[in-house]
Amino acid sequence: MSSETTRAPRVNRRGSQCPAWCEQDHEHLVLPNLGIYADHHRSKPIHSGPVPYVNASIVQDGDGTGKNVIAAWAIGNHVYVPVEEAAEFAGFLEQLAFTTPAQLQALANDVRAAAAVARGEL
Ligand SMILES: [Zn+2]
Repeated sequence: MSSETTRAPRVNRRGSQCPAWCEQDHEHLVLPNLGIYADHHRSKPIHSGPVPYVNASIVQDGDGTGKNVIAAWAIGNHVYVPVEEAAEFAGFLEQLAFTTPAQLQALANDVRAAAAVARGEL
């Protein structure tokens, strides 16, 4: 009998069972001063090419809800996208490849302004 057939499923510190793709070290302290561990489930980063500092991974809250999101990382920042919207988001990112830095900055300003209007601040 191999050890793989008898090994208990991995779980995080809350007892939420790890999905098959989870590579998270749940004993890792993400905020040591506060004693907060990495309870969320996370896949190994997925790279499709040689471009550094960008990748995507699958993330699931460690509270047992089972809802997966895609984390898109770029230069230390990330955005979470529902799995169902990931293809549309990827197409949007491809379109952004044809924009200038000034256009990207204008878009960022517009998104902030739209959010302020939605919150009733403008
Ligand atoms: Zn896990």
